[in-house]
Amino acid sequence: MEHNSALAPYAIDSKASRGRRVNESPPAWRNEFQRDRDRIIHSSAFRRLEYKTQVFVNHEGDMFRTRLTHSLEVAQIARTVARALRVNEDLTEAISLSHDLGHTPFGHAGQDALNACMQDYGGFEHNLQSLRVVDKLEQRYQAFDGLNLLFETREGILKHCDKSKARGLGEVGARFLEGQQASVEAQIANLADEIAYNHHDIDDGLRAGILLPELFNEHPGLKDSLEISEQRDGLDTKRQFDIAIREMLGTFVNDLIVTSAERLAGHCSGLADVRALGTPVVDFSSAVRAQHIQLKRLLHRELYSDARVKVFATAAGITVTELFEQFFHHPHLLPPDRQPHRSRDEVGHARTIADYIAGMTDRFAIAEHQRLTGSATWPEPITSNSTARYR
Ligand code: MG
Repeated sequence: MEHNSALAPYAIDSKASRGRRVNESPPAWRNEFQRDRDRIIHSSAFRRLEYKTQVFVNHEGDMFRTRLTHSLEVAQIARTVARALRVNEDLTEAISLSHDLGHTPFGHAGQDALNACMQDYGGFEHNLQSLRVVDKLEQRYQAFDGLNLLFETREGILKHCDKSKARGLGEVGARFLEGQQASVEAQIANLADEIAYNHHDIDDGLRAGILLPELFNEHPGLKDSLEISEQRDGLDTKRQFDIAIREMLGTFVNDLIVTSAERLAGHCSGLADVRALGTPVVDFSSAVRAQHIQLKRLLHRELYSDARVKVFATAAGITVTELFEQFFHHPHLLPPDRQPHRSRDEVGHARTIADYIAGMTDRFAIAEHQRLTGSATWPEPITSNSTARYR
């Protein structure tokens, strides 16, 4: 059970939750946020994360992160920070595990293509889609659609949202209209996400042979961490880089905990203070924040924009766009239980198709695209690159 006595005053206590949209009797052996976490793990959208791209398309190899392992790494970092700051670890875990449930196949390339297809019908945004998955699209309970999660979990999933969309979302959209910050638990999950992908993308990029070891000289955090691991005797290159990445991740997490604890102690005696601040209270020191931003820029330049990665992004865009066009104009191609309702307008029709495509795994989307168009647009996997100097 929850250690209520140990929770900080700005933590969210499950007993003080604003509740579920449909009332349910309390669980016997778990607190309410543990129940949310368990529902997320048992959802089909969560299982499908195993076959969805993080950076490298799922069929490229078994060594790279997928959305599932990414989500587990986010949760593990976030739980450490939550426990250290004495906020609700179960809520932090539930938000972390569900934050990417709405991701399309093929990562950001898939989302961008689906958003372009949906331009005239309200657009597509993976973060909003994550909320849609837990509120509506999972259909496995008798009394409700979705997972009927607690308000605090749902609000935490919604990281960003423009005001026009927030108006249609009811109570979870309110904080965007009122200019309020998210809970400490949601802020932790958000930064744990960024820490996780920055570090695991360096690792995967090296393994793919796209990032070169020399890159470590271009970033002060990477350089310092590598120097620490190079001082140890008898390590092969791979182990040196493994240690360096872990060293830097540890530095970032430690800095986040220490800085956030100071800021919370200085500004917040309760959750109302956290929400009213002009900026998120969970943050790095200015020196580490600068390194964090520098790391993102480096990854954009050297990994996400690399021609070999872009080839896949292009194929992903074509696949999603053509799937959308096929289903939009020939809805009978959809499975019987996913047919748009006859009485629905064009916007509803488009949304049904976007929901279906967003739920696809990489390999299912590739197979469906081939079935419907007969064309195979997929290049050779990046793992065939034998020039990698690090594995
Ligand atoms: Mg993420």
